[in-house]
Amino acid sequence: MKSDVEISQEAKMAPITTITDQLGINYDDLEQYGKYKTKVNFTPSDAHQDGKLILVTSINPTAAGEGKTTVTIGLGDAFTELHKNVVLALREPSLGPVMGMKGGATGGGYAQVVPMEDINLHFTGDFDALTEAHNTLAALIDNHIQHGNQLNIDPRQIVWKRVLDVNDRELRQVVIGLGGRTSGVPRQDGFDITVASELMAILCLATSLQDLKHRISKILIGYTYDRKPVYVSDLHVEGALTLLLKDAIKPNLVQTLEHTPAFIHGGPFANIAHGCNSILATKAALTYGDYAITEAGFGSDLGAEKFMDIVTPRLNKTPDCVVVVATVRALKLNGGADKKTLNVENLDALKKGVINLKRHVDGMQQYGKPVIVAINKFASDSMEELTYLSNYVQNDLKVTGEIINSWAEGGKGAVDLAQKVIAACNNSDKFHELYDHENSSVLEKMTAIVTRIYGGSTVELSRKAKNELKRIEKMGYGNLPVCMAKTQYSFTDNAKELGAPENFTIHVSDLQLKLGAGFIVALTGKILTMPGLPSHPAALDMDIDENGRITGLF
Ligand code: ADP
Ligand code: MG
Repeated sequence: MKSDVEISQEAKMAPITTITDQLGINYDDLEQYGKYKTKVNFTPSDAHQDGKLILVTSINPTAAGEGKTTVTIGLGDAFTELHKNVVLALREPSLGPVMGMKGGATGGGYAQVVPMEDINLHFTGDFDALTEAHNTLAALIDNHIQHGNQLNIDPRQIVWKRVLDVNDRELRQVVIGLGGRTSGVPRQDGFDITVASELMAILCLATSLQDLKHRISKILIGYTYDRKPVYVSDLHVEGALTLLLKDAIKPNLVQTLEHTPAFIHGGPFANIAHGCNSILATKAALTYGDYAITEAGFGSDLGAEKFMDIVTPRLNKTPDCVVVVATVRALKLNGGADKKTLNVENLDALKKGVINLKRHVDGMQQYGKPVIVAINKFASDSMEELTYLSNYVQNDLKVTGEIINSWAEGGKGAVDLAQKVIAACNNSDKFHELYDHENSSVLEKMTAIVTRIYGGSTVELSRKAKNELKRIEKMGYGNLPVCMAKTQYSFTDNAKELGAPENFTIHVSDLQLKLGAGFIVALTGKILTMPGLPSHPAALDMDIDENGRITGLF
């Protein structure tokens, strides 16, 4: 069995200009990074984004992921196989999981975007630019305090932390500014991972360079001693921060193993951030393709809910079809099987675990658009397990389902699914909003998500969260959507509660106002915004030889 990186290294890639010619992208609008990667100067016009939009999401995942990216790529290649003009829109990988445990984010087997090594490792430098811009703002805040603090910023109430694209738990809580008068004003600080940065969210929601600058100027950085909010615009540094992102804001274009065009741009995590690639990349895919396929991170309770409730109002477009990826493995895990035995047939666990799929399908159906289940086949799945699951989807859930085998076969392995998705895209069903975006309160919005998507019963706010809610509403921002930060493993805020629990409470420990992104983050349970590395990080298995040949990158 070849590894992902071996398959990628053997790929015969087309020059990226072949792909852009095919899409009709003007040569003058390209900024190429070598032969196979390019940034595209893209100015969106809503009038031209008339492609059909397909959203790929999944059930609650195992630690390795359920193959959404793999399915998205395989589905795209199947569209290509059927001579449909399709463009993918995906997120960029973060080095945290690449070096840690989840792996890359370029698909797997024969459904990959290439060159996978480059995409997984720094790519076109967008995350580095975001990290530098984020930390530049942090340095400018502390510098302002050091030099007299004209704005009267309370060092204990700064809400802008520092970031790194590394899983480094040691940095969650730090003390900075030690070393005397010339080394700053000591205060407690902390690091988040870059993908949780508000700048990442802003980059992904901005529709132009001007919009990016406007959003950056609105970022809330902290409060004064007399509790007045302080914004980036008060420091007058939105220009400097925006110019650091002048290239990062341009969508990156690459191709799949079968030459399907793929925009890969932006990469917020779906558990601690909004989990979707940039609006510009999705708009570009809708403009250049008759079909655009995009993936939202983790299960439908996280990325897809945020796509529907946070992204679509800004995209001016709702999905025409939703594909929910399910695997026999993850359903067995959700049905109580031990994670070490997922390769062994276990119909009992599968039969118990399918309630997890049901709740994801029910949740997505509330938005009114057709929902299709893609059963991502693993070699270890038994025929009985696959048959049971297919029948369950058809007879119990009463939705269209199809087994997909793109990991082993590329586009060919997803042709049946593609045909069903194409048929579903011709619907005239109306999109239903989950909550009233104009008139519902923050608590009503959270309650709608918890009861209608998670299947829980109530939301409980900590004392801190209650105080923050009061402040947010007093400041007049109660109309913003809520971005839930929650474990990806469970519908509840406890990672161990698998399946489809009922009558549970979601505990909100804190609320954070992200005015540049335009949403309120609700931290639930024990969620952390800086992950740690596992006992055997993926980094231990990686190497590069004297010819630059990489091994161990999955
Ligand atoms: P997600 O996008 O849901 O996180 P990915 O598509 O990144 O999931 O897949 C997670 C991991 O599982 C990758 O290493 C990928 O190669 C592997 N994988 C996905 N589908 C299959 C499959 N059908 N058979 C074997 N491995 C798979
Ligand atoms: Mg993925």
